[in-house]
Amino acid sequence: MISVFGSANMDLVAYVSEAPKRGETVTGHRFRTVPGGKGANQAIAAARAGAHVAFLGAVGDDGFGAEMRATLVEAAVDVRGLRQVPGPSGIAHIVVDDGGGNSIIVVPGANGTVNGPSGEDLAAIARSEALLLQLELPMAAVVAAAQAAQVSGVPVVLTPAPAQPLPDELLDAVTVIVPNEHEAAAITGVTDPETALGALLERVPEAVITLGSEGALYGARQGRRLRVPAVKVEAVDTTAAGDTFVGALAVARAEGQDMAGALAFASTAAALSVQREGASTSMPTRHEIENALP
Ligand code: ADP
Repeated sequence: MISVFGSANMDLVAYVSEAPKRGETVTGHRFRTVPGGKGANQAIAAARAGAHVAFLGAVGDDGFGAEMRATLVEAAVDVRGLRQVPGPSGIAHIVVDDGGGNSIIVVPGANGTVNGPSGEDLAAIARSEALLLQLELPMAAVVAAAQAAQVSGVPVVLTPAPAQPLPDELLDAVTVIVPNEHEAAAITGVTDPETALGALLERVPEAVITLGSEGALYGARQGRRLRVPAVKVEAVDTTAAGDTFVGALAVARAEGQDMAGALAFASTAAALSVQREGASTSMPTRHEIENALP
């Protein structure tokens, strides 16, 4: 089993020619709601990639919360650890302009009420083959979950997004950190991925830096480095490519695949997801990933 302790947000996406300036009203040409949040996305990615997944987090008592729960259930994610709290669910208010640029407001809502893993969460974490964490819940809660996993000998996979300063008490409990190149640069202060990888390995035993259409770079403190090319595909929507990558990587590792095999599995899954629109809806099934493996 894989546990994901993280966020569930409803993405509210408006498409406009040009984003409105202060005091201005513009007419958009399309709107859609997409269940998301990095935690929920990684849970769905891992479930579709073939694992039993428990999602630990919170939604509000509004319609968005009900929809996000239903989306997780539909993906066969175990939602017994998804609590409902009074008030609104987390949302991401996203404006996409015709140039493909976007601006995003995240309002944490229910996610912000999670101040640590519950007793049931701790039991689920202790039974897991891996714990997936991101940074869309309060930092103290993320640290507590990471430390609980470490005590139980459960590997912790951290996606350090949104990028922010990382306390040592968190990194001391992390097994693998998986930033994209921007997050890696923000954390380490260096833009060159090879150098950033070295800097990350001074703080955690293993690191993967994802490089979009350039693939990914892996390193272990013991010195082994791997460069994984991306699969050449026509990208339609790269939303949640990183979450698909991490979910699939965790599944392959939990099944005992070696790192090279797990990275190939993850980049195949992510390449399938970028060829389809949407976040959770674009994530490939186990069958699709196996059919597409090189
Ligand atoms: P994030 O979505 O977190 O910003 P990246 O953009 O680095 O992360 O993408 C994560 C992974 O998804 C990459 O390492 C790669 O395997 C895959 N990927 C992303 N964009 C593409 C693309 N255009 N073509 C093929 N694979 C892609």
